[in-house]
This record gives sequence, structure tokens and C-alpha cells, in this order.
Amino acid sequence: MTELAGSADREQVGRSAYELVAELFPICRSITGDGVRRTLDVLGKRLPLQRHEVPTGTPVFDWTVPREWNVTDAWVADASGRRVIDFQRSSLHVVSYSAPIRARMTLEELRPHLHTLPEHPDWIPYRTSYYQETWGFCLAHRDELALADGGYEVCIDSSLADGHLSYGEYVLPGRTGEEVLISCHTCHPALANDNLSGIAVAVALAEHLRTLPVASRRYTYRFVFAPGTIGAITWLARNEDAVGSIRHGLVLACLGDAGGFTYKRSRRGDAEIDRAVAHVLGRTGGRVIDFVPYGYDERQYCSPGFNLPVGSFSRTPHGEFPEYHTSADDLDFVLPSSLAGSFSTLLEVLEVLEGNRRLRNTNPKCEPQLGKRGLYRMTGGHKDTRLVELAMLWVLNLSDGDHTLLDVAERSGMPFPAIAAATRALEDCGLLTELPA
Ligand code: ZN
Repeated sequence: MTELAGSADREQVGRSAYELVAELFPICRSITGDGVRRTLDVLGKRLPLQRHEVPTGTPVFDWTVPREWNVTDAWVADASGRRVIDFQRSSLHVVSYSAPIRARMTLEELRPHLHTLPEHPDWIPYRTSYYQETWGFCLAHRDELALADGGYEVCIDSSLADGHLSYGEYVLPGRTGEEVLISCHTCHPALANDNLSGIAVAVALAEHLRTLPVASRRYTYRFVFAPGTIGAITWLARNEDAVGSIRHGLVLACLGDAGGFTYKRSRRGDAEIDRAVAHVLGRTGGRVIDFVPYGYDERQYCSPGFNLPVGSFSRTPHGEFPEYHTSADDLDFVLPSSLAGSFSTLLEVLEVLEGNRRLRNTNPKCEPQLGKRGLYRMTGGHKDTRLVELAMLWVLNLSDGDHTLLDVAERSGMPFPAIAAATRALEDCGLLTELPA
């Protein structure tokens, strides 16, 4: 029995999350610009998103909100006018943040601006040049080899101008103002797993949680959809006074591939979120690795000046799958069933956070007599009965004021939902009282 999972229909969640990935896939995103706004427009159809626009030049800690980049078209045409590289076919073809250019040049002059992956000759790489002004195209190595000597016309119809950095937020209140932060990056163009999958799973969690009554949630949930690095830095700069409310956090990325789960601990290493995820993955499978100051926006949340309890939850981590940052990270690489599995595993984690409490056994001298309170044989099946009874004995034994229910689950090796169910039954009989967190 789980409280949060409620009526979640996994198959429907997987389908819906996949549809969102597919809808967002063609949009040309970068760290700023209309692609991010269109992405937030799409998310706004599912969630009442709060939108933020931060002007170019705004100082954010050691950084500055950059100029806004927009691109409408980009192509390279051969002497006959045929477009041999065409942004309209894939937004990956143009190096993100390319300066505008319109010029004729030889292949030799063009070549330094072409990026390919010789080891995967059919894939288009993903390249960016955010903080150094240049221009370039990405293409399949096989297509580069096919380029004939001669003259080419090059066009990047882009603009780099003062504008804004856009991000979206959705806050779902709970019984308390203590927060769970769910953050994902929204800056990648046509790449499905990194990170449309993270966005889609975050949206699925938000959509599901908001169907439940407020009273069912102890925590307030804050979902942040922001461009990688500069977006998280901007968010932290604008919310520095509020981050004290964050009790637990997760950065979500790469959640749609067929691989198993990987959780990277927060910088603290022993935060409740670290233990909650480890407990769930210990039962469902997955690996837990230590914090390293590299990866996604946990780098910012876990910088020493914040040191927030924020871990990073993925399937196959960035850089560990060959399709990473290439055109092969496409809609075939992401599976509805993987998105659904990520959703339900994360829901199990949230269930632990929501249900993790400290209680005191009101009858600590010898075991209380459970039979006279109707707590023995309270369920039908023999196996279940034994499990619930064992869970009750564990909860009673460790509820000395020093242990939380997560401690009980860890020490007993029993699943958290069984511990939580036993706790509720014991509370109903007055055998436990809750202690302040
Ligand atoms: Zn990436």
C-alpha cells in the first residue's frame, strides 16, 4: 500500500511522458532564446508554470546572464544551390550560439567550421559555443566525406542580442513549507534522453502529485525547468534566501534509455535523500555512486556555499552511452516503459521522504500484546501476515526516539512501504506517538 502512488497508471504515464518528449524534440533549444520559451509553452499546457525572464547582463554570482541567441535558419549550399547541410532537417546541424554569417567560401575555408564524429560516421554531434563567439556546423562524418571541392555558400541566420534567460517553475504546496526540489535542464536541442526524458519525468511527477489532496503531501514540491549551468546559477542567485527550505532535492536527467538506474549522492553523502534513494535502489536494483563536482546542475546546488541535499538521478549517466550528445539520442533511444519505470521508482523515493518520521513506542517495557489490540492476523495471506507482524516488531523495537522509519527499513532490510503500513496500524492503536522531526 502506498500513499503517493495512489492510482498512477504506469502505462498511461509512460505514453504521456513519451508524447511530451516527442512534442519537444523538434524545438531548437539553447541556454536562452525562443526555443526555451516554446518549450515552457508546451510544459505550460500540462502545468500552471510560473515563467521567469532574467535580462541579459544580470550578474548571477560569478557569472552574467548572456546575450539571447535565436536562430531561424542555417544551411550550407553547394555550387548548384543544393543545401548539403540544412538546419531545417535537424537543429543539431548548427553549433549552438553560432554568430550570424552569410558568406561564400571554399571547402578548405569551410572545413575548420565543420564538426563530425569519425567513430560514428552516420551520427551528427551536438556542439555548443556559449562563451566564445564563433560559428559552425555539425554533420555526419559520411556527409562531410561526400563534400566535393569547390565553392559553398554559408548562411546562419541567427541573432545574439540583449534579451533574457527564460526558466519555468512550478510549486505544489504541501502541509508544510519544507521543500523537495526537482530540477532539470531545458537547454538541449533535439536530444531525447539528455534531457527531454528528465523534463518529461519531472512533468509526470508534478502532474501526478497535483491530483492528490494537499493533505496527502507533507512537503511542498518545487519543480525547476531551467537551462543547464547558467539557469541553475541564475535560479540560485534569485532564490538565495529561500533555499533554506529545501530539505531534499533531485536533479533529473537521462531517464528514458533502457539502462538501469544510477544515483549520484549529494555532496553531503549521507543526506536523507541519499539514504532514501539507496534504500529504494537496494530493493529494485541500480547503483549508487559518490558525489563528483561534474555532471548536471547538482554542481551548482552542491557548491560549498549552498551544499544542498541534492543528488542526481539517471539511468545510464551522461557520457556513458555512445549516443550521448549525438543525433542517435533520438526518439528511438527513449522508451515509454523506461520513462514509466523512472517515474514509479522516483515516486517510491518520494514515498520514503514523505513517510520518514521519528516515533516513540508508548509501551517500551517488553513487547506490547498485539493480539488483544487486533494487530495479529490482521491480513489474510500467511506470508503477508508474517511480513506485517515482523514489520510491527521492528518498528516497536526501534521507535525509541533515536531512530527514524528509514533507519528501521535499513536495519530490518524490509521495504519502506511495509514499515510505513505497520507504523500506521500501531499508531491507530496508540502504541506509537510521533516526535518532532
Ligand atoms: Zn548534455
